[in-house]
Amino acid sequence: MEVVNDNSCSWINDLNPRSNIQKISSDLDCEWLIIGAGYTGLSAARKLGQLYPNQKILLVDAQLAGEGASSRNSGYLVDTTLNDGFTSNKELENYKKKADIYKLGIEAIKRFIKEYQVDCDWNECGKYFASSKEEDKKILENFSDTLSKLGFEHNLLSNKDLKKRLGTNFYNIALYTKGGILLHPAKLVRAMIDTLPENVSLYENSSLLNWKKTNDTVICNFKNGSIKTKKIIFATNGFLKSLGIKSNYNFPITLTASMTRSLTDEEFESIGKPKEWGVLPIRPMGATIRMTKDKRILIRNTAEVHNPFNMSAKILKKRSELQKLGIKKRFPKLPEDIIQSTWSGIVSRTRNSSQIFEKISENIFVAGCYNGSGIGVGTLFGEQIALKASNENSKEIEIIESRDKPTWLPPQPFLNLGIYTKLVYERIKARSEI
Ligand SMILES: Cc1cc2nc3c(=O)[nH]c(=O)nc-3n(C[C@H](O)[C@H](O)[C@H](O)COP(=O)(O)OP(=O)(O)OC[C@H]3O[C@@H](n4cnc5c(N)ncnc54)[C@H](O)[C@@H]3O)c2cc1C
Repeated sequence: MEVVNDNSCSWINDLNPRSNIQKISSDLDCEWLIIGAGYTGLSAARKLGQLYPNQKILLVDAQLAGEGASSRNSGYLVDTTLNDGFTSNKELENYKKKADIYKLGIEAIKRFIKEYQVDCDWNECGKYFASSKEEDKKILENFSDTLSKLGFEHNLLSNKDLKKRLGTNFYNIALYTKGGILLHPAKLVRAMIDTLPENVSLYENSSLLNWKKTNDTVICNFKNGSIKTKKIIFATNGFLKSLGIKSNYNFPITLTASMTRSLTDEEFESIGKPKEWGVLPIRPMGATIRMTKDKRILIRNTAEVHNPFNMSAKILKKRSELQKLGIKKRFPKLPEDIIQSTWSGIVSRTRNSSQIFEKISENIFVAGCYNGSGIGVGTLFGEQIALKASNENSKEIEIIESRDKPTWLPPQPFLNLGIYTKLVYERIKARSEI
């Protein structure tokens, strides 16, 4: 199956279209092959290019490089994600391990943007975990306790502070963390494409159809050609399962988001001219909502089991209606028709929210599955899986490998039924926050 994307993602449409797109149209061979050119694959390719300037490295994507989830996300580079309280030291230790990985992810991106002087609208403005429900205060107090134990600067805010900072009366309670960066995801991934080392050849609009291992090579088949490689890295994230990789450990989830046009000066003034901000929901199915530096509002309030290869215009339109509602709830004074674009993107999830980072067979490696927080971690995992595949070690690999590993998932149809039931349950719990 081929990935068919909508072409209505505002982040992507902010950039100039790329030219000189190369497809696979013959039989090739190489030392290194990377499948998937999002943050993970591009970072793996960059690292391999630096390590092996004289070797042939191919990077292939089913669509235009970077135009999967890496351009379609909400742009939160997170240092922490919400956890509503721990009952044991072991759980606190696991949360710390997760936060250590996020920290390394932020450092990996900082290094990249410093080295290549990347402008990706970087703003170290922190983030809010917010809710309209006063009763969610308990969750935030527990979370605050965890953050204090681990030394993360934060504070609890009430409706009055929030109205001033966010320009909406909707939220009654929030926890603000000083850490956390907002950025333009498509600008970041475009910079990774533009700075690929010269010995990396990029092939796009070329879907890997199937692959097999024979002795010490891997053969990959595409519509109009094949690639024979010595080593391969799979970096297809939400599409790992469709390639038969770690199938019992990850599954794809489709998210949709909408972005408004820039607010007019008058509209912006009517909501109190807030500075750029980003809110994450307290209830998992609530809305992620962000005010960009150029006065646009981004909202993501759906997550569902859906065919990852295609979302019809009709279904996308329905999701857009939900997002319109989410904006109206928070900004009732703004006009109703300000959504400029709506798009979908695919993420990969595991049962216990742990990531995949491993050698699955001799010369075959995989990194992915960031459970919705893959900007920093994907960049980190890409670089580190390239090192691991080169038989090198690093302090980052040691930290990554000390995390809990993804746990086994039940087979179909139980899996989809289980995910569906959980999503419906979470959606009901987050009704007011959508
Ligand atoms: C709406 C939305 C909001 C999100 N918000 C955030 C956020 O705020 N912060 C955050 O950290 N993360 C967020 N994420 C998640 C984040 O975008 C991902 O974790 C990250 O992009 C993963 O990067 P990746 O390179 O591993 O995967 P991807 O960017 O998905 O790249 C994988 C690539 O593999 C290619 N591919 C798939 N199958 C094949 C095949 N058969 N042959 C060749 N190529 C193939 C795809 O075309 C794709 O380009 C969000 C995601 C979405 C969709």
